[in-house]
Amino acid sequence: MKEVAQKLVKWYQQNKRELPWRKDKNPYHVWISEIMLQQTRIESVKNYYTRFMTSFPNINALATAKEEQVLKLWEGLGYYNRARNLQKAAQIIEEQYGGKFPTQYEEILSLPGIGEYTAGAIASICFNEKAVAVDGNVLRVYMRLTNCQDNVLEPKVKKRVSLELMKILPDDSGDFNEGLMELGEIICLPTTPLCEQCPIQRYCKAYQQQTQTSLPTRIKKENKKEENLTVFLLYYQQKIALSYRDQQTLLKNLWQFPNVEKTMDQEAILSWLKMQNVEGNIQGKIQNRHVFTHKIWNMTGYLIAVDNMIPTYTWVSLEEAREKYTIPTAFQPFLNYLEEVTK
Ligand code: SF4
Repeated sequence: MKEVAQKLVKWYQQNKRELPWRKDKNPYHVWISEIMLQQTRIESVKNYYTRFMTSFPNINALATAKEEQVLKLWEGLGYYNRARNLQKAAQIIEEQYGGKFPTQYEEILSLPGIGEYTAGAIASICFNEKAVAVDGNVLRVYMRLTNCQDNVLEPKVKKRVSLELMKILPDDSGDFNEGLMELGEIICLPTTPLCEQCPIQRYCKAYQQQTQTSLPTRIKKENKKEENLTVFLLYYQQKIALSYRDQQTLLKNLWQFPNVEKTMDQEAILSWLKMQNVEGNIQGKIQNRHVFTHKIWNMTGYLIAVDNMIPTYTWVSLEEAREKYTIPTAFQPFLNYLEEVTK
């Protein structure tokens, strides 16, 4: 991997694109461009960057500007908090660092609006500090280079890649980081990587296995909706109540224990029974959490001895429930419980 790093640095030094913020290694220039590039393509950023630098040529100009002027120059880039944070950070640099951009990674990272990637980019490009800068482009290149299937949307994967890159970081850390980013931006493209032009093709395991277009792996974790259910485990003599799920789309046409989609306390349950024209006696409680693909049910079941059969339900023996009725997994723990307590 160290050889890969050397090749990459050499390739970057010979092939880097001329960009307005690459004319020098002024941290103010690198900082502004990196924040702008977080949300916009390079071609559009060029104009924004030039206008911004004309109005605010240095940290002091930005720190002392009117906020509305900063926001105006940001217009069209969106995420206005980033512009506000730029100005806040400029004011901190003025007050705490005498107007001189901090040189240490940790100091840079502590400024508003600067995350690990931007801090790593500034520290390595401007101060040659041993820091990595891992963004989506870098992750893509690394996962392809190593033919790794891990999910890049997991923070632990990004952390591991950062640690592995730290191990091979050459003295030219800035050029190495920029080389990786540049390769991701112009050669190792997301859908159509230009492998024939790639300076590190002979080391690339995805190229060898022809898996490059399926990498990196990105699996989004869905935020599942949680619902609370109160489940009525009604029994009368040797029979229990079941209801049929013919109205719902989830678990449609299966059998269940009667339930409502809300949390109910004992008092509410007794009133509910009254509305069904029965009296009941709560004798036990059981909980179950069931995870579906898109939602989670937090279910609380109440064992209730009733003095009559509620006619809207189907009353069956436990044996029949087990053998003749399809009761989905979400309700199975309640059936097991009933079998246990009525032994
Ligand atoms: S060979 Fe292709 S897939 Fe591998 S790093 Fe180069 S451009 Fe990316």
